[in-house]
Amino acid sequence: MFLIFGLRTKAHRLGLVPMACRVCGQSGSMLLVREVTKFSLFFVPLIPVRTKHVLYCTNPLCGAHSTISAGEARQLLAAGTGSPR
Ligand SMILES: [Zn+2]
Repeated sequence: MFLIFGLRTKAHRLGLVPMACRVCGQSGSMLLVREVTKFSLFFVPLIPVRTKHVLYCTNPLCGAHSTISAGEARQLLAAGTGSPR
């Protein structure tokens, strides 16, 4: 008998956040993404192992990203978001 197991990360776009990029300084929108890593058995995701919130710069020349805490993500979402692309 053998087991096929592993980790799989799925990204969920939460919305656009109106704040300036910390790297390029563009005052456009930052894309807020929740990345959930789940333990999977036989390619079926079962148990969430890790969740992190990442801000991606939508400037194609920059592409910077930074990880923020769940509390910061909640505050940004409460401040208002646009629709995800
Ligand atoms: Zn940027």
